[in-house]
Order: sequence, then C-alpha cells, then structure tokens
Amino acid sequence: MKVIEADKQYLLIFEKGEKLVEELTRFAKDNKVPGARIHGIGALKNAELGYYHLEDKSYIRQTFTDMDYELISLHGNITLKEGQPFIHVHASLGRDDFSVFGGHLFEAEVAVTVEAYVTPFGRIPRREFDDEIGLHLICGI
Ligand code: ZN
Repeated sequence: MKVIEADKQYLLIFEKGEKLVEELTRFAKDNKVPGARIHGIGALKNAELGYYHLEDKSYIRQTFTDMDYELISLHGNITLKEGQPFIHVHASLGRDDFSVFGGHLFEAEVAVTVEAYVTPFGRIPRREFDDEIGLHLICGI
C-alpha cells in the first residue's frame, strides 16, 4: 500500500492481494489517525459482508467468492474503540451482470486496486458498548 498525504488528507493506494480492513487498521495505528472519514473505490474479492439483526444482536455473515467485484462505494470511519483505532466501513459491490449488493464489510482482499481517501477529524470520536443495540456505538468526542 502506498500512502500520499496532502492537504490534511491521505490517499491510500492498495495493491492486489492486500487485506483491506487489516491494512486500514494498520494505517490508522502507524499514522496515529484515531478519527477520520473513509471513502473509496476499486475492486475486491473474497468479501465477507454482514447484515446486523437488531432482534438477535448479531450479524449474519457471508463471504462472497464467486468473482472479483467492483468496489462501487466504500464508506465509513475510523474511531477509537477500547483505546484502539477501529475501522467501520460499508461496501457496495458490483457483479459482472451489473447487479449490486453490499453491507457491513468485515474484510476483503483487494482484487485489482483500491483507492481510498482518509480525512482525519479534528477531534477523536469514541465508541462505547450500547446494551440496547448490542454494538459499540459512537458516544462522543
Ligand atoms: Zn456497519
């Protein structure tokens, strides 16, 4: 992965084979970016997506492996969770018949490249566990 910093933003260029969420987490730790907005485009494969069921307080998880997918939209943030940078991203993925699907992105492998923009916040959003929702939600800065 290459990192280009400009105008208080980062452009991250991921290479084929890299694990996207793992690399984003490493970037946030190495560059001390505990709070930021993330968005990007590219192509992914072996994408593990989730859909959160509030009634069960758990994710349905599915890994999609039948082809390489266009990463039509990657969107999310970096926040502090239990003192560590935490990546929360959602992805819209496109198939070769131009249909689109997506969800909470647990992890995926870069299929061609990913071009992601990271815009740090001036302050640090923190996550704390919410008993009613069953997830670590942003609770303040
Ligand atoms: Zn999510």
